[in-house]
Amino acid sequence: MAEVKKENDLMEKIVSLCKRRGFVFQGSEIYGGLAGTWDYGPYGTELAHNIKNIWWKTFTTDREDMYPVDAAIIMNPKAWEASGHVAGFSDPLVECTKCHHRFRADQLPVENREKKTCPDCGGKFGEEKQFNMMFKTHVGATEDESSVAYLRPETAGGMFVNFKNIIDTMHPKLPFGMAQIGKAFRNEIAPRDFIFRSREFKQMEIEYFVDPRNEAEVNEIFEAWYESQMSFLKGIGLSENKLHKIEVPDGDRAHYSKRSIDTEYDFPFGQKELLGLAYRTDFDLKNHSAFSGADLSYYDEETKERITPHCIEPTFGLERLVLAVLSDAYSEEEKDGEVRTYLKFSPKLAPVKIAVFPLLKNKPELVEKAREIYKQLKKEFGAVSFDDNGNIGKRYRRQDEIGTPWCVTVDFETIEQGTGVTVRDRDTGEQKRMSVEDLVSFVKSNL
Ligand code: ATP
Repeated sequence: MAEVKKENDLMEKIVSLCKRRGFVFQGSEIYGGLAGTWDYGPYGTELAHNIKNIWWKTFTTDREDMYPVDAAIIMNPKAWEASGHVAGFSDPLVECTKCHHRFRADQLPVENREKKTCPDCGGKFGEEKQFNMMFKTHVGATEDESSVAYLRPETAGGMFVNFKNIIDTMHPKLPFGMAQIGKAFRNEIAPRDFIFRSREFKQMEIEYFVDPRNEAEVNEIFEAWYESQMSFLKGIGLSENKLHKIEVPDGDRAHYSKRSIDTEYDFPFGQKELLGLAYRTDFDLKNHSAFSGADLSYYDEETKERITPHCIEPTFGLERLVLAVLSDAYSEEEKDGEVRTYLKFSPKLAPVKIAVFPLLKNKPELVEKAREIYKQLKKEFGAVSFDDNGNIGKRYRRQDEIGTPWCVTVDFETIEQGTGVTVRDRDTGEQKRMSVEDLVSFVKSNL
């Protein structure tokens, strides 16, 4: 019990730090919010950008076999009929007959699930129903059945509908992949756990097309994708012992998947899905071809055969990654009776890489020199900030809480003796004096 409390405390502390320091705010906060929506503040935006950029470089620009797209969020609704989402993208919903609160049946505590009782008031549940999670809208000026469209529930659809365009314009050879980062929308019955389960979120997905005639190669590629996902997660600083490989059993997989591996992470509220890997076979290309009438096959120049490629899908949820990175990085240390809170981000992810301070705010020569060094570092690294508010201790605390790896102080020695600046390390608190040139190469070697 004590452990659970500690974990709840940790989540509360993370949520509160995110708000206090400008990482994540409640969506439409001044109107009382909108359940399941969140807004990134300046540091959250930077943190998410850094994760996205590493993902993009790792999985698209560093590879020779990737074809990125950026597709429309609202697609022809037939695409979602073809993918099976109109008929089957639903979660089980139960409603209490007494207080009328609604719950996702499969996420209820075991006791309530078995006894069919409401966890809020003890009332009895009515019949279980399937609730389709796609957000519906209307396109154009008529609001009837003919104008219904959906906000995409996954980015994958935008890639399958562009498969033919990629084949016709880029002439790729199998195996090859399409990649996309973008928003997805799900009308979750019970959004919860901060940004973990939201109604609007970002996915970073790859549809990797393989030749189904070589089953051994397909299996090898599937395994290789699992390894790539793991090495990406370790590369952004997540602790290996908090990552768990879950081979999803028959019956629990999405309707399109022949094999799935979920990677779960020890979030402060428990071990939950962080990202997934699914073998979607030819399910999507076959169905989109049948529903659209388009030829979504691939011509093998060597064997002179036409085949429908199979698809392996590594999928990553950006918000879940942001939350995992924040939970992993959150650290507290007691020193001289005071608790120091710091985010131990990998420097690659830190929203601010270096903060520059003049030792004293009221000494123009110090402020001038500090601004000069700040400008020089900003030109080099971009994400550099200047702070002359409050005393040095307060500035360190602020930077620690946003995870800035290095704080640089400009003092009288910098000006009078030209001995460089003091550089303080976020994790150890150690300070070293070094020239600005040495600082630049040191930071570069750590990014
Ligand atoms: P869950 O079982 O947690 O609802 P899922 O299995 O439905 O997730 P997928 O359909 O596999 O999720 O979606 C791919 C990825 O998108 C997930 O691994 C996750 O990172 C992210 N994701 C899915 N739903 C949400 C959501 N509501 N909020 C934030 N991220 C999400």
